[in-house]
Amino acid sequence: MPELFIGGTWTAAAGGRKREIRCPADGALVASVDEAGPEDASAAVAAARDAYDSGPWPRTPAAERGELLLRTADLLERDKAEFARAESLDTGKRLVESAYDMDDVAKCFRWFGHLVAAGGHDRVVDTAPPDVDSRVVHEPVGVCSLITPWNYPLLQTSWKVAPALGAGNTFVLKPSELTPHTAVMLMRRLTEAGLPEGAANLVLGAGGVVGVPLTEDPRVDMVSFTGGLVTGRRIMAAAAPTVKKVALELGGKNPNVVFSDAAFEAAVDYAATAVFLHSGQVCSAGARLLVQEELHDAFVAEVVEQAESIRLGGPFDENARAGPLISAEHLEKVEAYVEAGLAEGAVLRCGGSRPGDPELADGFYYLPTVLDECTPDMTVVRDESFGPVLTVERFRDEEEAVALANDTVYGLAGAVWTGDPARADRVASRMRAGTVWINDFHPYVPQAEWGGMKQSGFGRELGPAGLAEYLEAKHIWRNLSPSPQRWFA
Ligand code: NDP
Repeated sequence: MPELFIGGTWTAAAGGRKREIRCPADGALVASVDEAGPEDASAAVAAARDAYDSGPWPRTPAAERGELLLRTADLLERDKAEFARAESLDTGKRLVESAYDMDDVAKCFRWFGHLVAAGGHDRVVDTAPPDVDSRVVHEPVGVCSLITPWNYPLLQTSWKVAPALGAGNTFVLKPSELTPHTAVMLMRRLTEAGLPEGAANLVLGAGGVVGVPLTEDPRVDMVSFTGGLVTGRRIMAAAAPTVKKVALELGGKNPNVVFSDAAFEAAVDYAATAVFLHSGQVCSAGARLLVQEELHDAFVAEVVEQAESIRLGGPFDENARAGPLISAEHLEKVEAYVEAGLAEGAVLRCGGSRPGDPELADGFYYLPTVLDECTPDMTVVRDESFGPVLTVERFRDEEEAVALANDTVYGLAGAVWTGDPARADRVASRMRAGTVWINDFHPYVPQAEWGGMKQSGFGRELGPAGLAEYLEAKHIWRNLSPSPQRWFA
């Protein structure tokens, strides 16, 4: 069956092109999928526009839209194993991690389903004249282009699709060209759940080819994008001429600040997970470790021990604890960052190369790497390497810790580890990031907003604001007893 989904029909790419999807763990062919071109993107936008302007979905009562999201959550739970396997083959991620992701995807649909069904967003405005009925109602934004990355393919997609549909929008989804399969499967489940034709559309293909028209087309009202900073800037510029609503989640260079009074064992353990989870391909990865001077040597020694113990392997290797990077190109980029760090004076404590294990030779693996004695001006400290690379900086006191933590163009997430609750609160409130963890790293819940400050982007996903992102407020004022005003009399 073809893989593009346009106006309720599964269709092949107009140009007849196909793309081979290969598993990053061993290069094995997963499948060949349809590769859309600009004409397919245009057809998908037309279908979404038509479904918005004259289809039933935007006019479906909120309670029913919420019900559809809940049914989708049920189907995702029913088919969790199939989804997890597909996600692992596309990303190379361990099966157990993909299974966790699928739980989170279902939870996301379920949470937004309940939120939408509960309604209650509209309100009556208390106006001064008594013969007026003034109300603020909320309407869907319109046609949304949803553009998602390869690191958490279906999870990032669910953060956009669930609220966009819940709010009554129609959309065109473009997943990363590298990881299309779970997006294809999601379209099938939305159809099974009863979504009307044209409300959900899917094009597969390269960002520069099918992503660009989705951000420029005047028939699109909103672009929601998760991915790299450079692409985010391009998308914002592409959306400017037609003044589209834009939401951007552009990753981070997230500080993990450890004071000397932190719970040592837990802080070490989380410092390793913060950066090495999914081989560092996480927008909120704790890639910058800031350690208080007196704790530095002992702490780094323990983190290095943990890093060296991480066993790499493919999705179905039950002994593996981390997988490959997504592509050869990305592996080379990570290598270049480490080389730049060493050239600029960082000290290599572990890793710094591809693994020697011949069993891993066909995958895009890179050893968990710790670069010590780093300084804020180094490229590897400033840029998001998006790989298993931890940079370590020292600080003397709270003032310096906050200054270093905020010394980045990004502002997605950060953590502070300390036994002093007052200090934890002070540092958390001064950290310029959309999420701050105290004595923890990485947890998020669908009930709480997620998003960035500074160049990590704007707009929020998840939480009530994640739904509001896809709604427009409209004020309706009804004069109940119109009579001449005689302003010009
Ligand atoms: P990109 O930002 O290039 O890609 C993300 C999505 O945008 C993909 O679907 C991509 O398509 C699409 N895209 C690319 N160019 C355009 C464009 N001009 N207009 C519209 N859509 C476009 O991320 P990469 O995959 O190249 O990764 C680059 C870096 O981004 C990573 O190294 C990492 O630093 C960061 N990143 C951050 C993520 C986050 O969660 N914040 C997630 C992933 C990456 P396609 O890839 O199919 O060509």
